[in-house]
Amino acid sequence: MPRIFSGIQPSGELHVGNYLGAVKNWVELQRLTPAVFCVVDYHAITAPYEPEVLRARRHEMALGLLAAGIDPDLATLFVQSDVPEHTELAWIFNTVTPLGELERQTQYKEKSARQESVVAGILNYPVLQAADILLYRADQVPVGEDQLQHLELSRVIARRWNAQFGEGFFPEPQGLLTPTRRIMGLDGQAKMSKSMGNTIGMLEAPADIWAKLRPAVTDPKRIKRTDPGTPEVCNIYHLHKAFSPEATVAHVAQQCSTAGWGCIDCKKVLAESIEVELVPIRGRAEALRAEPRRVTDTLASGASKARAIAQETMREVRDRMGFAPGPADVRGIG
Ligand code: ADP
Repeated sequence: MPRIFSGIQPSGELHVGNYLGAVKNWVELQRLTPAVFCVVDYHAITAPYEPEVLRARRHEMALGLLAAGIDPDLATLFVQSDVPEHTELAWIFNTVTPLGELERQTQYKEKSARQESVVAGILNYPVLQAADILLYRADQVPVGEDQLQHLELSRVIARRWNAQFGEGFFPEPQGLLTPTRRIMGLDGQAKMSKSMGNTIGMLEAPADIWAKLRPAVTDPKRIKRTDPGTPEVCNIYHLHKAFSPEATVAHVAQQCSTAGWGCIDCKKVLAESIEVELVPIRGRAEALRAEPRRVTDTLASGASKARAIAQETMREVRDRMGFAPGPADVRGIG
């Protein structure tokens, strides 16, 4: 059976783009195959942050994932910094990663273009990501489209390491996409992302969601209420395709293209469809907020399950690379 791994940064709220592009797929896949899901907090510190905020967001992200349907009886859910083997393997992978490949990564180019001074962590981010995945020797990685280039690099790293130290040891992980592989932000300008402030939060109150949906960008050519629209170019229509039943989607397309509905009418129906999906998730989140120990206990047992796999991989990696199979304390020395 293929083993799947995927991660999410605790750099802000769990949003609809994360859910439709990745997390909804995690919930399906955990029933079918061994699955490891990780709150990747070391990734979240490549941008300036407050330690207390990171602490709170890590808990909140884990709570959001559990509320969205991750089931700790089926899958392993843990926090990256609880398993130190991630950074150990990342260092090792740094030594087999071609610098040119890192400099070619679109996300690095975009992020570094927005900043005057760039930390090395932004460049090396995909190396840590390769370590996250390969530590669990995962074959498949359910992610949004934005991560496919990083995954290609994970395959390059796996191939390079295997060629030098152990043919076939690391699998070459493949991406698993959902039909909604890329959700645009409400500004219609960029992908929906925690770092762009253009998100709909999975746990937001209906009134707050509506306050964001109401002014959200639609078909830019539809200026007057009586102008017929083109559904395919409208972000709201794409959200309908993700949230509304098929018959509603067909009705929306027809009403838009004949100017039967204005954009606000269309957005009201979308808000209702979003509510149907979010109500149970919000309910589970409230129950978890009342019992924060359930979240911390889940993460603790997830970390110990993840660590057992990680240590087994690292024993082999260290051995094949000419190191002792574990640090001295693990071997009972010192
Ligand atoms: P963010 O960009 O919001 O910080 P992460 O980098 O933590 O999100 O990504 C977590 C998962 O969500 C990844 O699998 C990523 O591909 C997916 N994802 C993030 N934003 C989107 C989006 N707008 N559309 C589809 N998938 C997305």
